[in-house]
Amino acid sequence: MNGLMMDQSLLVKSIMEFAEKVNPDVEIVSVTADNPCHRYTYKEAFQRARQLANVIAGWGLSHGDRIATLAWNDYRHFEAYYAIACSGYVSHTINPRLFPEQVEYIINHAEDQWVFTDRDFVPLLEQIAGACPGVKGWVVLTDAAHMPATSLANVHCYETLMAGASEEYSWPDLDENAACALCYTSGTTGNPKGVLYSHRSTLLHAYASLMPDVLGLSCKDVVLPIVPMFHVNAWGNPYACPMTGAKLVFPGSKMGDGAELTRLINEEGVTMSAGVPTVWLGLLAHLRDSGERIDSLQRIIVGGAACPQSLMKEMDTHGVETRIGWGMTEMSPLGSINSLKPEVMDLPEAELDTLRLKAGRPVFGVDMKITDDDGNELPWDGVAYGSLKVRGPWICSSYYKVDESDAHAEAGWFETGDVATIDPHGYMAITDRTKDVIKSGGEWISSIDVENAAMGHPRVAEAAVIGRFHPRWSERPLLIVVRDKGGEDLTGEEVLQFLEGQIAKWWIPDAIEFIDEIPHTATGKIQKVALREMFKDFEFSG
Ligand code: AMP
Repeated sequence: MNGLMMDQSLLVKSIMEFAEKVNPDVEIVSVTADNPCHRYTYKEAFQRARQLANVIAGWGLSHGDRIATLAWNDYRHFEAYYAIACSGYVSHTINPRLFPEQVEYIINHAEDQWVFTDRDFVPLLEQIAGACPGVKGWVVLTDAAHMPATSLANVHCYETLMAGASEEYSWPDLDENAACALCYTSGTTGNPKGVLYSHRSTLLHAYASLMPDVLGLSCKDVVLPIVPMFHVNAWGNPYACPMTGAKLVFPGSKMGDGAELTRLINEEGVTMSAGVPTVWLGLLAHLRDSGERIDSLQRIIVGGAACPQSLMKEMDTHGVETRIGWGMTEMSPLGSINSLKPEVMDLPEAELDTLRLKAGRPVFGVDMKITDDDGNELPWDGVAYGSLKVRGPWICSSYYKVDESDAHAEAGWFETGDVATIDPHGYMAITDRTKDVIKSGGEWISSIDVENAAMGHPRVAEAAVIGRFHPRWSERPLLIVVRDKGGEDLTGEEVLQFLEGQIAKWWIPDAIEFIDEIPHTATGKIQKVALREMFKDFEFSG
């Protein structure tokens, strides 16, 4: 017997319609290239989304066609998210920090029909436009006064298009499984792969993200998504905030600018923010130098890469709760989040710190397991480590236009490529990427733990560990360090001594190299492949 409930599709347009009725006056504040402080409301944003839908309707596209954006976090990008997806097309967010050849590959692979771009990325697009014959036109997200001179063909000014468009538009009733957004992974090897989100998956993910132990958002929150809207849809914030009526503050191109972030936090009363560790390190360095405070900020979500303990502890001194999250482009991205269970609250400080640094417990909707090399499931004892696999309604079932992938080898599961432990409380900890695992004498060393310990040294700005060939142990860890400002005379011995007692003795790296900068991927992860290439001729002495 079926239930007698209304059969209503889960569509992204419902977020707009709800927010316009229930949270119309809540503000969206943005920094843009043409305005340091743009301010309007959800009501105005969604009114403009209807105007934009009318503009797009004039392009003669078919439902399901892809429309790309290369843009920072701001209100025009927000309008594009909703207008594209809710009028039946797929909003394809492109990471502008990728190499031009990768952007070109992605535009062609996705068969993007039109591209919305910020002014900053016009030169990049001019380089590759000739190799993207499928693109019918380009729209620069600015007003007429700030239109750049460009060699792009069929280029339009966003505000000029909008000025002539009607505010009347009736959003179509789409299938909830229709695609609404597309994001390519920032893989460090091979071509990026496309992950195609549906209206249903996006809505379920946004619901889940609101839960108290996840992002815990409410109408009292002021949210600053520092994580880019081209990095897994800013971790769902642009969908979750209008659902609950939280105010949104978009930092535009200023996400790496500690002074500007501090200003936004204080002037707008930001309570919650989300971003990768690098942005927090930048913000903390600014606070240290300036002596400024960020008193309104209650919690931050740190994800995308391992969070150093020093970052978490320094945030503690500002009264900011650090919640570590783990996820992937393939998972929309939320997989787990670290909020403390009552039974662990009274652990001694050192033990609690170790626990708080873990990637957290699975979010309802994500089923996870760890398996050994033969695919056998491993216990949740906090010791056994294995390949982390997940399944759930917002996890990709296959990549876009890819017939088969190793990640989907086990039916019904997605293999994340991460190696993890899960403890009896359900807290999962990422120890490595499968490809980065270091095996010394057959035993495994967690590069993330070693990196974290090294970064606790006050004169270490960043640290990375890679495995290098060793004649006796087959592989041993090499520590690569960037000295912090004022750490010019920091020696290798000093760092290695500092590690003693913090990690197992045999995990202590056999050698240390200092470099000026550690290479990062376009989403802020340490590029181990590049480091291994840089140190390919390295030999341990003795
Ligand atoms: P992306 O698809 O760019 O979001 O990257 C996903 C990958 O980032 C994961 O598979 C992990 O390797 C890494 N990652 C994300 N969150 C964390 C975390 N909290 N700790 C360690 N690695 C993480």
